[in-house]
Amino acid sequence: MHTIDISSLDLHRPVNGQFQIQPLPYDKTMLTPAISGETLSYHHDKHYAGYVNKLNELFDNDEFQTFKGLSLEEIILNAPQSVLTNQAGQILNHELYFEQFLSPDYASEPSSALADAIINQYGSIDSFKSEFENKGVALFGSGWVWLSSDADGTLYITQEKDASNPISKGLRPLLTFDVWEHAYYLDYQNRRASHLDALWSILNWRLINTRYIH
Ligand code: MN
Repeated sequence: MHTIDISSLDLHRPVNGQFQIQPLPYDKTMLTPAISGETLSYHHDKHYAGYVNKLNELFDNDEFQTFKGLSLEEIILNAPQSVLTNQAGQILNHELYFEQFLSPDYASEPSSALADAIINQYGSIDSFKSEFENKGVALFGSGWVWLSSDADGTLYITQEKDASNPISKGLRPLLTFDVWEHAYYLDYQNRRASHLDALWSILNWRLINTRYIH
């Protein structure tokens, strides 16, 4: 595997040392029934916003001041594993997650080089979706299932525990489903598989394509 160069990523940087809460790019009711407005209110306004506020507070702590001003990616890759890297990881994970859903220029299927790579490696788009969903369902506890690519464009489906992100494996993050219970429990209770299956209907593959072809 040829690991990516971090400088090829679109780095998530703070403004004057403070990370900003990014607004959702769609109305909270638009993702129903895959994700209800109530779930988005908690998930974005409470969980995600909480990670941003907590990270900004941590920079006041002497042991973390040296990391103030760095991008989320640089904190994740350079700071010792700690509450700091957990907050930075969760902010990056959630920003990549929330922005990948419906938008006015939404595309329901992958195209061009990404579609070719998926079919090449997984046989078909449907068999890719099955494998991706199965890895999400099988992830024990809290975490994320990711589609990523290496520097050669080879694809990887990985399970990331808790706040982890595939950049720590040298991979470019493309697509993710959040399998923490806060992402689906209000709407689907214990039926994680049903929730993951519903997410395909709101996924904006046009955006995923732009992450792959950079
Ligand atoms: Mn979440």
